[in-house]
Amino acid sequence: MLETPHVALGAAIATKIPNPWISIPLSFASHFFLDMVPHWNPHLNTETRKFGRPTKKTTALVIVDATTSLLLGSYIAFQASSSAAHTLTILACCFASVIPDLLEAPYFYLGMRHKFFKNWIKLQKSIQVDTTIFWGLSTQVLTVATTLFWIFLS
Ligand SMILES: [Zn+2]
Repeated sequence: MLETPHVALGAAIATKIPNPWISIPLSFASHFFLDMVPHWNPHLNTETRKFGRPTKKTTALVIVDATTSLLLGSYIAFQASSSAAHTLTILACCFASVIPDLLEAPYFYLGMRHKFFKNWIKLQKSIQVDTTIFWGLSTQVLTVATTLFWIFLS
């Protein structure tokens, strides 16, 4: 999935489970769970194989997604927390929820071709359930909407 739904779910977990020893590992694990929900992703891998790096259009989308996730995560961390420590826990959970994808960034954007990155990308790819762009974006919008409902209205 894009980073925004991952961060939304990580933040939601942290708002409901303030204990960082539970919520941080759970947020990390939620990444793999969410990637099993059918979704659409920009084609970083295909483009890198074809052109040596992701296209400008894809990179622009990655930047928009990363910025949105940062803003959303910070907003939730400050609006839905019960204390300063809880704010930090929410921020840590946002971060933990995207670690699996952050580990791919050096491969795509710094040209690091170490076997570790290749194997990691292969592993993540094997879990992903892909679908068409329409349904694949719908599931992600729905994920963000559901998590926001869960955080602020339940
Ligand atoms: Zn992922």
